[in-house]
Amino acid sequence: MSLKPKQVTCQCGHTFTSSRDRAWCEHCASAVYYHAKDKNKHKLNHIYVTGVIVAVISFLTYVFMELIASPLLSL
Ligand SMILES: [Zn+2]
Repeated sequence: MSLKPKQVTCQCGHTFTSSRDRAWCEHCASAVYYHAKDKNKHKLNHIYVTGVIVAVISFLTYVFMELIASPLLSL
């Protein structure tokens, strides 16, 4: 997939031409997105994944407490 070459500016201030969704800065090696909003999309996705992982761990802890710890404590 190739996009129309466009000038993108990295957060470090380095400007270069990119024709990909995500390119790597030659100066600081961080990701530079072709569409500025893509950065937020990736960040939101990261927050969503973290939230799901926290929810799963909480649920597993609850199940563990209910099914394993409670019967042991009531003995
Ligand atoms: Zn940079």
